Amino acid sequence: YLNRFVCTTSLVRNEQQSSAKTAPERREFQAETRMLLDIVAKSLYSEKEVFVRELISNASDALEKFRYLSLTGTNLENSQRPLEIKINADKEAKTLTIEDGGIGMNKEEIINNLGTIARSGSKAYIEQLKSKGGAPDSVSNIIGQFGVGFYSAFMVADKVDVFTKSSLPGSVGLHWSSDGTGTYELSEDETAELGTKIIIHLKSDCTNFSQEDTIKDIIQRYSNFVGSPVSVNGTVV
Ligand code: ADP
Ligand code: MG
Repeated sequence: YLNRFVCTTSLVRNEQQSSAKTAPERREFQAETRMLLDIVAKSLYSEKEVFVRELISNASDALEKFRYLSLTGTNLENSQRPLEIKINADKEAKTLTIEDGGIGMNKEEIINNLGTIARSGSKAYIEQLKSKGGAPDSVSNIIGQFGVGFYSAFMVADKVDVFTKSSLPGSVGLHWSSDGTGTYELSEDETAELGTKIIIHLKSDCTNFSQEDTIKDIIQRYSNFVGSPVSVNGTVV
């Protein structure tokens, strides 16, 4: 499987040598994921800020995985780097960026983790929804009760870019991008650094999440759960 990927993409790479990026490959989300994304994007759930907690907890998990592998003797790229979470709130660009120097993802992992429902809570929710004939009666309850992990970003984003590079030696950088509808695009991108960077392009009615003070306030309420330092626009919170 991996060999096939390397062969086909190296052809593309030769054509595009200057940018060190491959042409984006468009892939469909799993049917259940599409269903969940559709609900999340349309949700009027008032506590949209939970996406910040979900993305920070994923960044924290990725750093913990890195730490664990490092301590148990796995050979990792640049294993002495600082293990931290860097957040950037950009009012002008209307973006919120969450970056971790954690374990990162390879191609297979990004397809499985961000294209299908890996999360047991989301799975349980979709099962419940199917048994009710597909009509969610209260989206707020559902999101509050089950959590939707990474996909919660689409409550506030009209586009999400993920740049990631696995910390295992010999990995290639990847760029995943989606507007949260049926498909996502995936390409190799050598600008991706070790770990994961997620850029949330905020919907026009959610631009408050690009304000430094708002984000700091949200993080301070959740920060006791995080085992790594978190900074917002360069200041540790
Ligand atoms: P959960 O965290 O419950 O597994 P999520 O939807 O939040 O579910 O995330 C799905 C998966 O995507 C994670 O289990 C992880 O494998 C992967 N993932 C998400 N964010 C990151 C990240 N920052 N670094 C590495 N892997 C990540
Ligand atoms: Mg998670």
